[in-house]
Amino acid sequence: MGHRTRLIVLGRQGAGKGTQCARLAACLDVPHISTGDLFRAEAAAGTELGRRAQAFLDDGRLVPDELVLDLMAARLGGSEARAEGYLLDGFPRTLAQGQALFEVLGRSAADVAVELHVPTSVVLPRLAARRVCGSCGATSSARPGDPEPNVCVGCGGEVARRTDDTDQAIRRRLEAYDRQSGPLLGWLEERGILLRIDGVGPLEVVHCRLLNAVGNRVPLAAGEDDVPDDLVGAG
Ligand SMILES: [Zn+2]
Repeated sequence: MGHRTRLIVLGRQGAGKGTQCARLAACLDVPHISTGDLFRAEAAAGTELGRRAQAFLDDGRLVPDELVLDLMAARLGGSEARAEGYLLDGFPRTLAQGQALFEVLGRSAADVAVELHVPTSVVLPRLAARRVCGSCGATSSARPGDPEPNVCVGCGGEVARRTDDTDQAIRRRLEAYDRQSGPLLGWLEERGILLRIDGVGPLEVVHCRLLNAVGNRVPLAAGEDDVPDDLVGAG
């Protein structure tokens, strides 16, 4: 008897990680678990851990590692949750978080970790083009020649660049990510579970690349019927 895949996905801001994670989780038939969703779900359920996480978020502070780990352990620690597998999106982010996750959940915390790699020359313009509607919060991507500020197609509100999305701030965030995740990636590689995937290309192409790599690495035990033959086992 196998279990479904337990997967960690890492990637820089602007790598398209959220979209790819959602599609990959659907193909592998495992829950897509991001820390943000986890915080919101626990807070909505009114659990003690959820309330504590919410207090940090309300103050605009980072939720401390220890609390995130407690939340993860509560969500993933049960045998049922472990058997149904998962895709972790956005956690762990640092070496300390990664080591703690494996300490709490054991050696099989993840069968495979994927780094969706996209170079700075690609993510920088992508992030610089990001626009947010001040009224409905919808995000969009500005094209050359678009007026600034623009008008939201959804609600007619004003669409502009976020004030903390300056080129310099974006560069700083990318560098901070690289600094933090570098040691984690090295550690995952040492454990023999890291796959580095080229994240440059059309959404569909990157998706196939991801699915192929993961499918070659782990037996797609419960979900294999859902995966088209031409996407598995090639290469
Ligand atoms: Zn809007």
